[in-house]
Amino acid sequence: MSSEIPVKQVDPSPGSAKNNRKGEAVDLYASRKKIYVKEVKGFFQRIRNVSLTLLMGMYFLFVWLTLDGQPLIHFDLPAREFHLYGATFYPRDFFLLAGMLIICAYGLFFITTLFGRVWCGYTCPQTVWTFIFMWVEERIEGSRNKRMKLDRAPYTTEKILKKSAKHAIWLFIAFATGLTFVGYFYPIRELIADLFTLHANGWAYFWVAFFTVATYLNAGWMREQVCLYMCPYARFQSVMFDPNTRVVSYDPNRGEPRGSRKKGVDPKELGLGDCIDCGQCVQVCPTGIDIRDGLQYECIGCALCIDACDEVMEKMNYPKGLIRYTTENELEGKPSRLLRPRTFGYGAMLALMISAIIYVLATRVPAELDVIRDRGALFSFNGEGRIENSYTLKIANMTEVPQTFELSVSGLDGIRILTHTTVKVDSGENRPVPTVVDVAPESIEQTNSEIRFTARSVTDPSLVLETESRFVGPTR
Ligand code: SF4
Ligand code: SF4
Repeated sequence: MSSEIPVKQVDPSPGSAKNNRKGEAVDLYASRKKIYVKEVKGFFQRIRNVSLTLLMGMYFLFVWLTLDGQPLIHFDLPAREFHLYGATFYPRDFFLLAGMLIICAYGLFFITTLFGRVWCGYTCPQTVWTFIFMWVEERIEGSRNKRMKLDRAPYTTEKILKKSAKHAIWLFIAFATGLTFVGYFYPIRELIADLFTLHANGWAYFWVAFFTVATYLNAGWMREQVCLYMCPYARFQSVMFDPNTRVVSYDPNRGEPRGSRKKGVDPKELGLGDCIDCGQCVQVCPTGIDIRDGLQYECIGCALCIDACDEVMEKMNYPKGLIRYTTENELEGKPSRLLRPRTFGYGAMLALMISAIIYVLATRVPAELDVIRDRGALFSFNGEGRIENSYTLKIANMTEVPQTFELSVSGLDGIRILTHTTVKVDSGENRPVPTVVDVAPESIEQTNSEIRFTARSVTDPSLVLETESRFVGPTR
């Protein structure tokens, strides 16, 4: 079966018309050309090294940390609990998590509007892991030229050893990544003990293997392909750019016409700009593009080309910044504005949502009392001639410790609870408590009276839960 999709070009573009006037089949598939990224040192690479170390450190460390006996971050799916920095969230708090995710998304939009793809270039997991894998590759196989030579060379013992060592280290990092990721769902200490003693359940093995393979393939093999073809963010973020967005750009006014020259020669005498056409900016680019062609969706904003070009400019005794963070307006000699309607819009939305989440979190009561009237008999008379109603109280304890509650009822003279009035509710438990209430017939003035249940925690006296219900009696 052929992988080629026959396409007739109905409206050929000027560039391709000559080649396809007869409606010949064209292949829409282009095989990946391996990109050999040259290592570069510089200011922006140092910033990325700091962010990379911080993020990796947090990722691998936080899974081991606990706070007040609870994991710092843990998604307990079987118990349907989410532990985050000492707070526990339940399915009923889903809107809070959704709110936090929306805030993160808006934060990303806000930053992108101001500084382009800084998320992609410095903090995206795909970038972070790819840079670590590239670092390992450089340490084992050597510089860009050596790697290209090694790939062209026939398989020798040295080549096999180098390739095996690289893939073994990649797989080890990928396994550590997968294990840590699953550790956020399955307590990491138990996970390691269970995995290596073959006592973990099948899903734990599956997910560790899945994330190991995904990390190995994404960071080792697919790299820029993930950004170019799989990441939706790369596709829609251009709508957040405007002429005032500060992005990595080449300054054609200063660089063109480009051309090689000897060091010390005044480019003006040769009628040239500052770009010596050395190609360093292309060789260091992890997505293999030439920033001199203008802003492209392939550019992840990693700024490696800035570091590479600055190094060249320094050697040539030219001012740095031929490639730099700048705006379209600045390149055209127009003033650039940091604050503009779009940034105000995103900023205001962000501030509003953050304030709302802080308010909800600050006023969130970590327990709940619900009451459901039993649907059977509306009321009955007991042996003392008093009127009885039955309810189910539901007490949810979302604190980190078990709570003992004292139950009481009010709203009618002499109303009392006949069933248990002391109830212990474990942390994370939503406990149903069948409750019978009675009152003397002379205390009720109408068939349907409002009453109030109270659950007062003995463990934490500040925790007082109240809810209203109805007491039904006979018609008077
Ligand atoms: S690194 Fe700078 S000087 Fe060299 S080709 Fe790129 S833009 Fe031109
Ligand atoms: S052009 Fe390439 S090297 Fe330069 S910022 Fe974009 S992705 Fe990075």
